[in-house]
Amino acid sequence: MKSKIFISKSPEETQKIGEEFAKNLKSGEIIALYGDLGAGKTTFVQGLAKGLGITKRITSPTFIIVKRYKLQQNPNISFLYHIDLYRIEGQVNVEELGFDEIIQDPHNIIVIEWAEKMENQLPEERINIYFKHLEENKREIKIEESSYGK
Ligand code: ADP
Ligand code: MG
Repeated sequence: MKSKIFISKSPEETQKIGEEFAKNLKSGEIIALYGDLGAGKTTFVQGLAKGLGITKRITSPTFIIVKRYKLQQNPNISFLYHIDLYRIEGQVNVEELGFDEIIQDPHNIIVIEWAEKMENQLPEERINIYFKHLEENKREIKIEESSYGK
């Protein structure tokens, strides 16, 4: 399993890392984000969305769990789904929330904050990203790609 570690010294830098990361994404990809509150997950997703050509402002979907963004630029990808499981207690029931269909659709890209809350229901073939709060403005971002299909 290959992994890349980035040290970010500002929210802008974290967005830039997300933006660069997005450029290598393929449709059907699932990205699981791990890390404490304030570690930079949503900030990263803002950059990721920008990298996919989404101009809409990305806010945390904390209260409604999932937000969907239409991709205009890439004909192979229909939607970016941004899921945030912060408010969910325990494990998510993926079928109840309709996430199973979203996950199975190869035209979507899905990024999930607090992915540990649906970990046992996520496919093995995914990209895990770990966020660590190092100092006030310093974060470690570790991108771990599953070896599947690489
Ligand atoms: P999470 O989604 O993991 O809870 P957010 O991205 O919403 O985290 O919040 C991160 C907070 O930390 C923001 O207030 C942001 O301004 C601040 N911050 C400071 N330094 C960084 C950095 N290097 N990367 C990302 N966020 C940072
Ligand atoms: Mg967040």
